[in-house]
Amino acid sequence: MKASTYLYALLAIVLLSIALYIPAYLFLNQQKQEKTQLHFSNQISQTDIEFEAIKNSYELVSKSIFDNVINKEDVVSLVKKANAQDDEGKAVLRQKLYTMLLPLYKNLNAQGIRQLHFHLKNSVSFLRFHRPKKFGDSLEGVRYSINKVNRTFKPEHGFEEGRVFNGFRHVYPLIYKNKFAGTVEISYSFNALRHEQMKLSTASYNFIMLKEIISEKAWKSELTNYENCLLSPLYLQDKSSLVQAKKSDFTQDELKIINVSLAVQAQKKLPSEVSFLLHTKLKNKNVLVIFIPVLNVENKQVAYFISYAYDKIISNIEKTYEVELYVATFTAIILSILFVLYILSQKRTAKALERLATTDPLTGIANRNKLNIILEKSMHLSLRYKLPLSVIFFDIDHFKKINDEHGHDAGDTVLTTIATLINHHIRSSDVFARWGGEEFIIVLPETEHDKAHMLAEKFRKIINDYKFLPDVTVTCSFGVTQLHENDDESSLLKRVDNALYSAKEHGRNKVVELA
Ligand code: GH3
Ligand code: MG
Ligand code: MG
Repeated sequence: MKASTYLYALLAIVLLSIALYIPAYLFLNQQKQEKTQLHFSNQISQTDIEFEAIKNSYELVSKSIFDNVINKEDVVSLVKKANAQDDEGKAVLRQKLYTMLLPLYKNLNAQGIRQLHFHLKNSVSFLRFHRPKKFGDSLEGVRYSINKVNRTFKPEHGFEEGRVFNGFRHVYPLIYKNKFAGTVEISYSFNALRHEQMKLSTASYNFIMLKEIISEKAWKSELTNYENCLLSPLYLQDKSSLVQAKKSDFTQDELKIINVSLAVQAQKKLPSEVSFLLHTKLKNKNVLVIFIPVLNVENKQVAYFISYAYDKIISNIEKTYEVELYVATFTAIILSILFVLYILSQKRTAKALERLATTDPLTGIANRNKLNIILEKSMHLSLRYKLPLSVIFFDIDHFKKINDEHGHDAGDTVLTTIATLINHHIRSSDVFARWGGEEFIIVLPETEHDKAHMLAEKFRKIINDYKFLPDVTVTCSFGVTQLHENDDESSLLKRVDNALYSAKEHGRNKVVELA
């Protein structure tokens, strides 16, 4: 094969490989994205469910506390009585209530319940177990849930910001002998939620709230419970939410690095008020940060619950994708190579068949078929452009005798040797063919008859002088003619055959030219 064929084959393999690889790449890439999206949405809904489940379990816990410990005659009657007392009377009752429920509060506090807060029926704070010295302030207009229970006498549950803390609040009506006596609130912080979730996983959690809501609701003195949030300047985070569990995957500093790296993306997504997931890398490992929006009791989105966790599935998806890409590349190259090899072999077979049809098997020169085709073309060109064309037709003299005396194989050797000798002395534009048996023909385009005559004379001499076998001389008789304007193939061949016949007639080993 020629060097240029190798080059084309290589180019075809490269182009074909690319053409096969591109759709495979697009398909695999889309698959990877679909898998990643599916994984992300699974992670979001799993976190959503965990969060809901823990909130619900706390709702059950607070209901049980209310039903079994607080909604008792001694507690409810005390609050009922307090409504009608002056400050002094209220102070006595407050102290009594505090002493009565302090052991319970301590116990609840240890379990993550942050607030146990009694209010009188006019929404005035009566006793905060978490700030026992702060009371008498009205929560009218501050605490939606308390105001609502005052109106409906039905329990209210949900997240709400307050004077001191924010929390997941459960407000119950206190009814004494069918009369509304006030409300009690049992609430727990984000930390309690987190504590429960920490038991389930090694993820880290955070809780961020809209700054604007906190500054609207909380006492100035209590703003120290909050600190800036690195994810967004519009949010603050509860300081208590920064406490890390020992077995957490991340240190505080690492969480800060993650928050800073996700700040721009987070600020775009936070106003969406739907659950979302952000993906980043820490120490070359994938980190998923999931944001679950938290609605307050008024159904306004005011906070986000955030979980941070390392993720192994994405790197698995990425690894699988890389392997698939390698396989696709490999397959594309192999298929391209096989295809190009197939095409090359087809071409080679076609060439071999063509060769077989146009070549004389003994001498390797053109056969009569090929000569006819080429002669037709050459005559056409010569007549069209008025160029000379000559033909030499020659035949081995007494060849039968050579065969008879030296054997058929020796005859074959003579035939191949003559073919080699003549082939050596013609131009590449000349056509040399075996006409049949021991007869040969040479077509000489752009050659005048005298030049052809000289050439025939030269061939005659070469053959005559050549030692084919010891004691064997071989001679040939030659006919020469030039194409006439009104010639066709048969008239031309007939004339040159006549010339050859004449050479034989005149004693052989001769060149005869017929004009
Ligand atoms: P002339 O000088 O009149 O041409 O006599 P000649 O003996 O050469 O002519 P003739 O036509 O009587 O015989 C040609 C011989 O060539 C007969 C045939 O056996 C032999 N021949 C034809 N093809 C081949 C071949 O492929 N190999 C061999 N060894 N002999 C062949
Ligand atoms: Mg002969
Ligand atoms: Mg013959």
